Amino acid sequence: MTNSNGNSHSAATKTPALRVIPLGGLHEIGKNTCVFEYGDELMLVDAGLAFPSDGMHGVNVVLPDTSYLRENQKRIRGMIVTHGHEDHIGGIPHHLKNFNIPIIYGPRLALSMLTGKMEEAGVMDRTKLQTVSPREVVSIGQHFKVEFIRNTHSIADSFSLAITTPVGVVVFTGDYKFDHTPVDGEYFDIQRMAQYGEQGVLCLFSDSTNAELPGFTPPERAVFPNLDRHIANADGRVIITTFASSVHRVSMILELALKHGRKVGLLGRSMLNVIAKARELGYIRCPDDLFVPIKQIRDLPDRETLLLMTGSQGEPLAALSRISRGDHPQVQVKSSDTIIFSASPIPGNTISVVNTIDSLMMLGAKVVYGKGEGIHVSGHGSQEDEKLMLALTRPRFFVPVHGEHRMLVAHSRTAQSMGVPADHCLIIDNGDVVELTPDGIRKGDPVKAGIELLDASRNGIVDARVLKERQQLAEDGVITLLAAISTDGLMVAPPRVNLRGVVTTADPRKLSVWAEREIGWVLENRWNQLARHTGGTTPDVDWVGVQREVELGLQRRLRRELQVDPLILCLVQPAPAGTPAYKGQVEQEPDTRPAPRGGRREVGREAPAGIQRLTPAASSAPRPVATPVAAAAAVQAPAAVAIQEAPVEAEPEGRARRRRSAAVAG
Ligand SMILES: [Zn+2]
Ligand SMILES: [Zn+2]
Repeated sequence: MTNSNGNSHSAATKTPALRVIPLGGLHEIGKNTCVFEYGDELMLVDAGLAFPSDGMHGVNVVLPDTSYLRENQKRIRGMIVTHGHEDHIGGIPHHLKNFNIPIIYGPRLALSMLTGKMEEAGVMDRTKLQTVSPREVVSIGQHFKVEFIRNTHSIADSFSLAITTPVGVVVFTGDYKFDHTPVDGEYFDIQRMAQYGEQGVLCLFSDSTNAELPGFTPPERAVFPNLDRHIANADGRVIITTFASSVHRVSMILELALKHGRKVGLLGRSMLNVIAKARELGYIRCPDDLFVPIKQIRDLPDRETLLLMTGSQGEPLAALSRISRGDHPQVQVKSSDTIIFSASPIPGNTISVVNTIDSLMMLGAKVVYGKGEGIHVSGHGSQEDEKLMLALTRPRFFVPVHGEHRMLVAHSRTAQSMGVPADHCLIIDNGDVVELTPDGIRKGDPVKAGIELLDASRNGIVDARVLKERQQLAEDGVITLLAAISTDGLMVAPPRVNLRGVVTTADPRKLSVWAEREIGWVLENRWNQLARHTGGTTPDVDWVGVQREVELGLQRRLRRELQVDPLILCLVQPAPAGTPAYKGQVEQEPDTRPAPRGGRREVGREAPAGIQRLTPAASSAPRPVATPVAAAAAVQAPAAVAIQEAPVEAEPEGRARRRRSAAVAG
């Protein structure tokens, strides 16, 4: 591993290899981030984000682990952006908070979208943005010359890259399909690509998104007649949802609105932003008066309105999702509405999309969706597009990128069918290092790769431990356990066990017996390690260690006996030496007193009231709080437990609701 003072990697000095290191985008769709490295110079290509999958509770954004970039930040000479999709630029503002990038080159539209994000994140001063034109060549450091080759994709102003390095030319396709009738008239620069192929391409890194699909991906224009027909047939309002960043699609929809005499109302922040930027830069052309503010559009006849909005992926906070739930302040569904989903769900979003469609239909609207309608085409090439790319570039070596594992395998097979030898194809994972020399390709030692999860603030990193705890909370609930232990290692009161969200048939009494046994076991077998006698009257007790031992013991028992794995929070209430020991409930008479006030049996089952009684000595001290939150805090600092007469507090309703909606967002 390279240190941060600019010393080059040992492998790079020993052999003159070009190192290409994808930190994201492999075995997944999203967060494409790739590092090119030669000698002591490093160049980044794209830095995207991904959206959380199920189980990533409270996570809003997924980024690649950038330890490698942080460690090597002094060596970063610059960055290239291929196009403006979130999975290619969305990570940049966050990375700029952690390290500087001297300069970022990219297409106008992408950099314009990036500027907005950087302003929001307050990192405008951390880099320089430089727009490029087709066939422009930029130098990054001493070793990289990058030519921007116009390609066609679902967003306008997209590029493939030809990167000239000391070991040869590498073609990095970016996202592409071959669309010979592009909506904006910007043709794929096939001629230039072929020239590079003619001169000799050492290695091709190519988009694998649709590597499993035979044939060519249809041109974007193919959806036009179908959208046209649905809009023509609509009696009432037309509501269309698509990706805001699908600039060509948006452009066609606006063209159709004009054609059918419908005014357009826009909903959703990204829809408004992208359209404003694309119009400003000339990628979308339409008259200003085509648009009407949402508040005024209600005054127009339904047949003369078209609403274009976000929410094609069922994102809970997007306009169409809110409309489907009936909680949008300005728009309510009418039975005469025609609602068109001009997008296909990204894997992982399918359930929220079909739920949205169901809700809209239940409100009476006509909903047009699905493959058969011809209202969506992919922006990524299929097998024949991929073959054309291979044919144009004739690479010596081939690395499929931008795709899940099976797509990479399929793409590699396609390359082999076109004569690239199997041992010239490399299937890699995030963090793998592709080492290229003029006559060889191999995998070097991998660098650290993984994910960083950000919460809604995009500042707080949700680490693996936090995520594991949230998953446990969501799936198996939480058990809090309060133990009163004296500094001479005796249990001085019965443990109090509290369950939240734990489904078990076990008698709560049994749980407290188990808790008691675990505490007893730890005191008997671990106390000598956990309490050090430093000479004073009381030993120095590692209370956190005691808690952890009890938690582990109880966790093992619950897994074994009940097959549940809740989060367990043990909180120890230290008592002074000499406090009389609690004998254990097995020997005690059951107590029939009513439960203490504030207990919430309907939420969590408490241990029977009887065993909550403290021994006389211990109850002379005030009693600790056992809410999950207080307990969590107390795990850090057992001695500082707030002690008061308020046995159990239910979780505030607002918190619970927020967590639920975050889980839905995931
Ligand atoms: Zn992409
Ligand atoms: Zn893209």
